[in-house]
Amino acid sequence: MTILVTGGAGFIGSHTCVELLNAGYEIIVLDNFSNSSPKSLERVKELTNKNFKIYNLDILEKFNVEKVFEENDITAVIHFAGLKAVGESVEIPIHYYYNNITGTLNLIDIMRKYKIFKIVFSSSATVYGMPKQVPISENSPLSAMNPYGRTKLMIEEILNDVYTSNNNWSIALLRYFNPIGAHESGRIGENPNGIPNNLMPFITQVAIGKLNELKVFGNDYSTSDGTGVRDYIHVVDLAKGHLKALEKVINFNGVEAYNLGTGQGYSVLEMIDAFEKVSGRKVPYSIASRRPGDIGECFADPTKAEKELGWKAEKGIKEMCIDSWKWQSQNPNGFLDKESIVDYANALA
Ligand code: NAD
Ligand code: UDP
Repeated sequence: MTILVTGGAGFIGSHTCVELLNAGYEIIVLDNFSNSSPKSLERVKELTNKNFKIYNLDILEKFNVEKVFEENDITAVIHFAGLKAVGESVEIPIHYYYNNITGTLNLIDIMRKYKIFKIVFSSSATVYGMPKQVPISENSPLSAMNPYGRTKLMIEEILNDVYTSNNNWSIALLRYFNPIGAHESGRIGENPNGIPNNLMPFITQVAIGKLNELKVFGNDYSTSDGTGVRDYIHVVDLAKGHLKALEKVINFNGVEAYNLGTGQGYSVLEMIDAFEKVSGRKVPYSIASRRPGDIGECFADPTKAEKELGWKAEKGIKEMCIDSWKWQSQNPNGFLDKESIVDYANALA
């Protein structure tokens, strides 16, 4: 069974590719490497000892994306390809709408043409906007607070309409909470461009000495220590959730949203503490003002995914910190390290 993975070279995509290959699926990766390195896919091959086709392609190039469907016998699609930086989406909204929404429209229109009606879509807990209560269940009110969030919400609505128009579709909307961690080998992980926006890559870059100190955005929220609380989930658990969602879309028609989180929230200070314990490194920090648009507390009610997909996050905060640190310390410059460049050159030769 062949699964097309769009955005498969990225952080969550590469970990999902490993799980898919280990579970015996054939995969095809389509990625334009706008926010990733082909090196990550070389490492997916190394970790699994399996080969697969890679299309260096922009999902906006509809004609060429269609060729991928013509050339391969695809059973289902896992659709990660998208831009994800909230701040950037405020600065260049047209680019975000175009990339995420037009890209998805291209994809599902081609899927319709080729009668491939099974798709797992990367949505986000951001579709809950400013949640009125925690834990957040799937039927909590939806809203968006920035262009990035609106692309996710709009795509969810589009996919709902698509199912209404044709009940042959089978669609899983996966609302991720806060993915961190890395593959336990330390060979693949999160590789942000420039200064990271997210907490964990910022912490690991402070710990390795690339950044001087962490700014904690606000200590006046109504949480246990005043700092923001999030539901951090190990990326390998998240990847495994995609396999469960894939089984679901392969076997049943419908459109369903699922929270993929642990159900447990941790504050920024708790994360710093957990990280310092496992790494043995100090993470200097200072308290700064709240980040505009941030919410105080956000964690999932993951019971629907457990009941309907048979999926539950297994890894705790300690493993998340150990694996984030392993990835960062073994690859201080992500996929740009000397060894990576040599590997990459060999891969291209
Ligand atoms: P990522 O940036 O590491 O991966 C996305 C991949 O998509 C990259 O490899 C990028 O090159 C590719 N891509 C982007 N636009 C493309 C295009 N037009 N054509 C082809 N490829 C394209 O991000 P990630 O963290 O792995 O996230 C994967 C998905 O999950 C995204 O859709 C993101 O919005 C969503 N998501 C991520 C998080 C998170 O915190 N990481 C949380 C919720 C949802
Ligand atoms: N955060 C912080 N300093 C940073 C980055 C993040 O204090 O440099 C806080 C942020 O305010 C939030 C938590 O860490 O409370 C998680 O932030 P992240 O950007 O990783 O996730 P999101 O806010 O998008 O859920």
